[in-house]
Amino acid sequence: MSQFWSPVVQSLSPYVPGEQPKIEGLIKLNTNENPYPPSPHVVAAIQAELGSDGDRLKLYPDPTGLALRAAVAGHFAVSSDNVFVGNSSDEVLAHTFLALLKHERPLMFPDITYSFYPVYCALYGIESERVPLDAHFAIRIDDYIERNPGAVIFPNPNAPTGRLLPLADIDHLAGRLPDVPIIIDEAYIDFGGQSAVTLVARHANLLVTQTLSKSRSLAGLRTGFAVGQSALIEGLTRVKDSFNSYPLDRLALAGATAAMQDRVYFEQTCARVVASRDRLAATLGALGFEVLPSAANFLFVRHARHDAATLSAGLRERRILVRHFNAPRIDQFLRITVGTEQQCDALASAMEQLVGQ
Ligand SMILES: *Cc1c(COP(=O)(O)O)cnc(C)c1O
Repeated sequence: MSQFWSPVVQSLSPYVPGEQPKIEGLIKLNTNENPYPPSPHVVAAIQAELGSDGDRLKLYPDPTGLALRAAVAGHFAVSSDNVFVGNSSDEVLAHTFLALLKHERPLMFPDITYSFYPVYCALYGIESERVPLDAHFAIRIDDYIERNPGAVIFPNPNAPTGRLLPLADIDHLAGRLPDVPIIIDEAYIDFGGQSAVTLVARHANLLVTQTLSKSRSLAGLRTGFAVGQSALIEGLTRVKDSFNSYPLDRLALAGATAAMQDRVYFEQTCARVVASRDRLAATLGALGFEVLPSAANFLFVRHARHDAATLSAGLRERRILVRHFNAPRIDQFLRITVGTEQQCDALASAMEQLVGQ
């Protein structure tokens, strides 16, 4: 606390990211990073951009990020005018909150969801309302339609539950609330869902955000994007150009563009993660865990006879890190990132010791 802080800063409660400890040999299954390296084309593109002496770094990058926007557009068969890029999808989301989500009626999101949303609401003074997930931790679209929201945002698959909403439900929601901005945060969609990008041409109110942090193994490069009709993209660009004209540096633009262009590598690594996830879900189920159906690169699990915080501490003693949220309704769950096959095996055998089977 300082007398020099603005009043708004005094009232903030910032997002707390998962730990990034610097411990040798740690099995890190707590922040949903991809266990595999990015496409080799990413490294080559960054090296080419750097050149032998880094001479290009003296010049500002393209403020419009056009090459990356074109690569994203190419991936989804849309136009570059439908694509906004930013320094992580968190930044894209932050701009979205300011550009599209502040209205007379409250912004609505699930009671259990990505914990950055309430943080942005506090930062931008956006009124919000939490809509409870059903008893099976699923989003019910009708709950939103009935409540007459000013705007709606949720991840699909939801985080930290991993549960996927069918594309038809999103189509229905966007159609039933045509005057309400609907934001679908698809941070994990590549691990088992169908992207709502295909609905964007039909719905002027729909914006879809994605990140290269998870399915493209680039959490360290900080790149995300949004896809929507050009009027929505223009709104985001107005905010961006009122904040930072060059959010993506030259190396990030080069690397992210290469990642978006390498569809084969992307599909192969996603398939590996999905196979490991399904195998780990079966193993944990056999150990007596309830495993929520996951379409993401993590599992959300609880055990009827073992406390989640105790299990998390036991794993940590065995140098395995998972995420435990000390929050209502989910404090008996653990969120476990799907690692390599080897890491999943290590997690499974540690759990076997801890639950005593
Ligand atoms: C990881 C995550 C993000 C943020 O991704 P970055 O691009 O790394 O900022 C956004 N939304 C959800 C639901 C996430 O889990």
